[in-house]
Amino acid sequence: MNLEGLQETLANYLEKSEDPLGAIMGQEEAKKGVLASILAGHHVLLEGPPGVGKTTLARHLASILPAVEAVADCPFHCRPSDPVCPACREKKDKGDTLETISIQGGQRFVRIQGSPDLTAEDLLGDIDPSMAFQYGCHDWRAFTPGKLLKGNRGIVFFDELNRIPEKLQNALLQVLEEHTATIGPYDVDYAADFLMLATMNPLEHAGVEELSDVLLDRFDVVTMGYPETALLERQILLKYGNRLDGIDFPDDSLDKLLVAVRSTREDPWGKEMDQGASVRAALALYEKAQAQAWLRGDSSVTEEHLRNVAVSTMAGRIKTSPESKYYDDAVGLVEELLQEVLSPSKG
Ligand SMILES: [Zn+2]
Repeated sequence: MNLEGLQETLANYLEKSEDPLGAIMGQEEAKKGVLASILAGHHVLLEGPPGVGKTTLARHLASILPAVEAVADCPFHCRPSDPVCPACREKKDKGDTLETISIQGGQRFVRIQGSPDLTAEDLLGDIDPSMAFQYGCHDWRAFTPGKLLKGNRGIVFFDELNRIPEKLQNALLQVLEEHTATIGPYDVDYAADFLMLATMNPLEHAGVEELSDVLLDRFDVVTMGYPETALLERQILLKYGNRLDGIDFPDDSLDKLLVAVRSTREDPWGKEMDQGASVRAALALYEKAQAQAWLRGDSSVTEEHLRNVAVSTMAGRIKTSPESKYYDDAVGLVEELLQEVLSPSKG
């Protein structure tokens, strides 16, 4: 699909030899893959562990979208010249002027969290009981649009797509194929023209559904991983991490932090780990270590501070594998890792 303005915007950047995704640090291969897919008009399925910047990438894409004109207060972002929803069409047919507003790129973004509890009503829409009493169930005024319809003319970010039930996959497939949603009793086709960026974690096994081949066929799959180098991850921490006033974070402490976090991803003993600590975990550790220094009345982050907060920060964010002796004991695993990467406690 050709999302209004997005391909032109990307083409403009590329003509000037600028990187449209320059604000995203690292992920060079993934960024190239995403751009190629979007320029080809395809939806994208971002595959990779959580906390590596998939949401940031999707939000950034929305933020560079140009503003578009839309009917004020229309949840479907109808074009004033060619409205698609019953409310706007009725006004236009009556000869009323449709009030127009400008919608900025960042507002052309809808996020859906995939889960086994997600319903067709969440995606497509539901009946508003009070309006149904007023106008009757079959009147379009009783209909409240779901998130897919609110994503019309924008980017729909569907997080953890493989956690939705199978029958919802079919409903979604239909919308992706037809760019419209027919809502049973209303006899109205709602426009649902959007670019979808979906995510899935291929290592997640609990509460996930296999995505059907026909649904997968609607997406280009792009893989995103952890920051390629420690240097890059350091830059990410310095750019996005919060700093506490008056607390210094020396380079050697930062190096230790990075070694500790990155060691969970390399899995030095083989099959211990299904999922290592994310970039989000690294950021949390970066911030908590400063808080720890502050609480202790110190002015500079030391290994001791890192050690004190590393277990609580990382153990809940990694997944040990069923084959591991640390299965169900992530704390034990992190403690052993820290033994290796941080020098022995000085008491
Ligand atoms: Zn409308």
